[in-house]
Amino acid sequence: MRFQRVKGTRDILPLEALARRELEQLVFSRLSRSGFQPIHTPTFEKFELYQRSTGESSDIVIKEMYRFQDMGGRDLALRPEGTPSVMRAILENHIKLPVRLWYSMSMFRQDKPQKGRYREHTQIGAEIVGEAEPEADAELIKLGFDLFSEIGIDGMYMELNSIGCRECRPTYQVKLVNFLKKHSSEMCEECRVRMERNPLRVFDCKVASCQDILKSAPSQRDHLCKECKEHFDKVKKGISAFNIPYQENDRLVRGLDYYSRTVIEFKSTSLGAQDAVCGGGRYDYLAEEMGGPHIPGTGFAFGVERALLASKGEGIFTYEQPTIALLILPLGSDATSFALDLVFKLRKAGLEALVEFRSGGLSRMLKRAASRNARKVLIVGEDEMASGVFILRDMKSGEQRELSFEELIESQDADSS
Ligand code: AMP
Repeated sequence: MRFQRVKGTRDILPLEALARRELEQLVFSRLSRSGFQPIHTPTFEKFELYQRSTGESSDIVIKEMYRFQDMGGRDLALRPEGTPSVMRAILENHIKLPVRLWYSMSMFRQDKPQKGRYREHTQIGAEIVGEAEPEADAELIKLGFDLFSEIGIDGMYMELNSIGCRECRPTYQVKLVNFLKKHSSEMCEECRVRMERNPLRVFDCKVASCQDILKSAPSQRDHLCKECKEHFDKVKKGISAFNIPYQENDRLVRGLDYYSRTVIEFKSTSLGAQDAVCGGGRYDYLAEEMGGPHIPGTGFAFGVERALLASKGEGIFTYEQPTIALLILPLGSDATSFALDLVFKLRKAGLEALVEFRSGGLSRMLKRAASRNARKVLIVGEDEMASGVFILRDMKSGEQRELSFEELIESQDADSS
């Protein structure tokens, strides 16, 4: 075969596409009840937007961006994550604050493909922008928790941390760097770079020996300023009041520069190495990093592919081979145009129906109907056209009935109820 998918991309075939639609509809219904409105932003933006918001030292910007020049020589990038472009859209369109927005958009990252990690994936995100209060974080966590419980994520657990603010993070970073310097010869090459560029990121390192060393590293949580501590305590109080189980993980940081205070991750024990289903937290500095005013915000985003992978066991989404509710079998070419007219009338009445275009004898057409997974067939021959009474056959039981158009509509209604 001449053409194949680009490495790390996926074809989403009908069964999965249907499950995704169900998932999206579920999320849409739950989030719109909670005051979230949908938003879509462009698939590509100026590279500089991500450089300034996601951060020059982030893995996404350094290693994973699909950065390209268009014919006009503009420096552009495919969207690697949703929050910066949502914030840009808020600023550019002067959206009134506070606002709650949700999106379902493709993200592009040139990471090493593996199960649950793709170069194009879809994230559904929810953002509460213009609210600095810890209650907004707690509400969002509750929303995420309920959503993932409903989706049925296998082995779900939540981790929580606070990474402080501009007041307390610098003092902590000095302590962390001092600690890292003492161990620098034992740490991996990448951690040594992180140490210089953005020391908090060392906690993202997966190398076992680095992880061992980091076990005794100073903790941000022990260095929170009074305001950050109060904020964190209120978030915890809020989620405890909802009885949401969580684990505090003082090593949990986000790979992105603009986060402050609350950081969360929902994980699944069923996903293997790529176990994060949803990441989120507070991003009070994002708007400023982008050259805008101070606008606090909090949000989460989850990967649709991973959510579906982790939810399959529970089976809330269908994944069934689609069937044809009613297939009309016209016998002869006059019958085909009659059937085509009839099928639109049936559809208008709310029925799901198709016409078999390939002609042939009745027994051959019945065989084809079976292989197309038709649940019922309607036989339309010359006699039926003349009398307006058709033969409806149940493909499973073989039972046949004679029905007029009106009776057909009624009987199908009864069947689907
Ligand atoms: P992040 O912005 O990295 O926290 O990503 C948010 C969520 O998107 C993660 O928790 C994953 O569920 C999903 N995700 C991130 N990167 C990928 C990827 N390369 N392939 C598939 N899903 C991803």
